This record gives sequence, C-alpha cells and structure tokens, in this order.
Amino acid sequence: MKNVLKVFILVLIFGGALYAKAPYVASKSEIAQVVQEAYKKYKDDNGGKNADYIKALAEVDPKLFAIAVVDKNGNVYEAGDVKKEVSIQSISKVFTLALVMSEKGDEFVKEKIGVNATGLPFNSIIAIEQHNGSASNPFVNAGAIETTSWVEAKNSQERWSKIAANMSTFAARDLKVNEEVYKSELSDNKRNQAIAKLLEAYGRMGSDPLEATTVYTKQCSMSVSAHDLAVMSATIANHGINPVTKTQVIPAKYTPKIMAVMATAGLYDNAGGWLYTTGLPAKSGVGGGIIAIVPGEYGIAVVSPPLDVYGNSVRAQKAIAYIVEKLGLNPYAK
Ligand code: GLN
Repeated sequence: MKNVLKVFILVLIFGGALYAKAPYVASKSEIAQVVQEAYKKYKDDNGGKNADYIKALAEVDPKLFAIAVVDKNGNVYEAGDVKKEVSIQSISKVFTLALVMSEKGDEFVKEKIGVNATGLPFNSIIAIEQHNGSASNPFVNAGAIETTSWVEAKNSQERWSKIAANMSTFAARDLKVNEEVYKSELSDNKRNQAIAKLLEAYGRMGSDPLEATTVYTKQCSMSVSAHDLAVMSATIANHGINPVTKTQVIPAKYTPKIMAVMATAGLYDNAGGWLYTTGLPAKSGVGGGIIAIVPGEYGIAVVSPPLDVYGNSVRAQKAIAYIVEKLGLNPYAK
C-alpha cells in the first residue's frame, strides 16, 4: 500500500513538472507563416457591411484586407494591403487616452472619465443618463470626446496639433488626415455634438463641447495603414517604447492601465465576447481596423472595412483570433 502511495506521489510530481514546462514561444518563421495562413483563410470572407452612418466610410473598398504584426524588437510580419490607408476612427481613442493619462495621471482618468463598460452601443446617450452623467469610459464616443477635451491646450489648434503629433509618434511617421472622411463626418456628427453638450451639462468637459467634438472628429479621420496600426499597438505592448524609433512615447506605468480599458471596452458592447475568445486587450474602429496587444510582446493590427452589428470588423476579429489560437498568445492560457 505504501508503494502505491509513493508511485502516486511521483506521478503527481512528474505530471506537475511536465505541465509547468516553459511557455511555448513562437519562432519568427512560425509567426510569418501563421500571418500568411490567416490572410489566405479569410481573404474571401465577405461577411459584414461597411459603416454607412458616415457617408465616406460606405465608399471604402470592402475587399481591402491587411494583417500586420510588429514585435517588441521591431520585427514585422505582414500580409495583404498593409500600406493601404483607412481612417483610424475609434482606434484613435487609445492614443488620445495615452496623451491625457500622461498629462493628468491615471487617477484623473478613472475618476473624471471612468473605466467601466456601458453594455450599450458606442454612441449611446442613454448610457450617460444611466450613469449619473458619467461617460463611463474613454472608448465610447462620450468618453472619447471628453478625453479629447482634456488635452491641455490654449486653443483648438494647439489641442489638435498635440493629438496629431502624439499619434504620429506612436506610428513612427507623420500621419495625415483623410480630408474627405473628415468633411463627411463633420457633416454627420450631430449626435456626437449632442453627447458633448450633455456631458457639458453634467460638468464633465475640459473645453468647449463643440470645439472638442470637432477635434475628436478630426482625430478619427487620421489616415493609417495596418502597418501603422501594428507599430502603434506594439508601442503599447512594449511598455510605451516605440519598437521602431526606440523612444519612450508614454510612461511605462500607464500601459497596463490603457490595456485594462481596452480589455473592458475596446470592442464596445461585445468586449466580453472578444476577451472570452482571445484574452487580449484590443480596440476597433468603424473604419475597419482592429488592434490587439499581446502584453510585452506584439502589436497585432488587421484592417478590413465590413463590420458586424456591434461596429467591429468581421474579418479583423476572425484573423486576430486565428493568430492568437495558432501561436498560443492568449495570456490566460500561459
Ligand atoms: N468617429 C466615429 C464616431 O464618432 C468613431 C466611432 C467608432 O469608430 N466606433 O462615430
């Protein structure tokens, strides 16, 4: 009987040691191969529909599809139209949040803007009313317009220059506004103006609500490629250091906070569904881009304009989920 017990204990120890083996790390060639596989697998998937509440977005080629992964050392793995540009839309919210957090600190963001999910669509007005005038988080439109309003600046021009320069520093190149999208969205942004006015009534805005909405609209019209988005997200993955320029873009202590907000509200009212599938902080935009971050390792970006009912790119979600699964990138599975 004693021997049986000994064998049993040995099995437990050995089994445990095997189970706790060093985590699998994908090689460069494996990453390159999986990116190509994801591209081929979803190239002809035509699910979803371009956003059309902003007219210029409805006209973007729905076939556009690009995947880019950038690692902490600046290595690049890509497939498809990686240099083709779309408007960044809501993905810009991540970078303006980073700017405001750097200027005002993470407590300010939590107390003033909020870091909780709304469970409601990204442009919800009811959500503000339900939460006593709070925008809830910096990634719904309300919280994003509020965040933009808190960028420290003497005037609108300076606010815009800082936001544009900040996104360019994340991307390691000078980004430009897509003027056509900007004009189109300016003429379609009455709802966002209403949201900003409502927040002003609740004493939440840092600058004039209509001015902040205009700057926010411009920030959403910034033109980026999948390659740019991957560099931008890899900077967050790499503790705030841009892996291309090696400059510290935001303090390292803030990147976990930004990722936490991405995990909570990055894919809007489907943020939980996304986290359940991939375990990764991510952010989508109605231009068709999604970024996902593997903390300490990679920025992943996919661009494909057709969206699902939540406003998240259909193919981008599938391609990222495939890469995460194949390369074992879900941090909860480590
Ligand atoms: N500019 C868009 C808007 O304000 C951004 C929305 C999004 O990408 N989800 O509606």
